[in-house]
Amino acid sequence: MSVAAVAVNLETLRTTIAGAASASGRDAAQIDLIAVSKRMPGSMIRAAVAAGQRAFGENYLSEALEKQSELSDLAIEWHFIGRIQSNKTAEIANAFDWVHTIERQKIARRLNHQRELDEPLNVLLQVNISGEQSKGGVAPAELNQLAEAVAALPKLRLRGLMALPAPETDPQAQKAAFLSVQALAHKLPLKTDTLSMGTSNDFAAAIAAGATMIRVGTAVFGPRPQTP
Ligand SMILES: *Cc1c(COP(=O)(O)O)cnc(C)c1O
Repeated sequence: MSVAAVAVNLETLRTTIAGAASASGRDAAQIDLIAVSKRMPGSMIRAAVAAGQRAFGENYLSEALEKQSELSDLAIEWHFIGRIQSNKTAEIANAFDWVHTIERQKIARRLNHQRELDEPLNVLLQVNISGEQSKGGVAPAELNQLAEAVAALPKLRLRGLMALPAPETDPQAQKAAFLSVQALAHKLPLKTDTLSMGTSNDFAAAIAAGATMIRVGTAVFGPRPQTP
């Protein structure tokens, strides 16, 4: 896919997001688009920034750090949305504005301890609502305990939940999964303001179920190369 297509895709996507928002009586301004740029070159990110995109999501730390230095002249909000290995927390704690994939207290404590910037790190708890072993995330039954532990860490700011439900083609099934994430957010022992859910395949259903952040890769940048 060409760099020029990125601007067109973003324009199309913004229209679709606005339509999905108004279909559920929501204001599109409440929905932040995180452009997922994993495996995409810095030139694609640069094109997206030129087309008005500000927030980008990356899954792989070393790849993200390379692009961050290549793009250090741009004002980008960086989101880490990949699985977190404990030997990578020191870099993740300081190279990102948001981390979406907290699933264990140990990782949260390390990020809190290693965050050197004055501004706390915005964090989301990834919840595994599909019960898939292969997917990350805390089990719903353990969510509130994790939330209380994370909320007590001064260098982390707990903003809400993130989910990546099992792929579904039926929009009603997609929405039902996202509604269960929203229900978990309402039952948290503290107030939060962010629900990160929805990808290229299901962001409309996520918006209908209250998503405030959608994480979209393919619909912005086209299909990813097979190997990193
Ligand atoms: C890759 C990825 C996305 C984006 O997926 P697309 O289908 O390309 O939109 C969203 N969230 C997470 C956690 C991802 O790893």
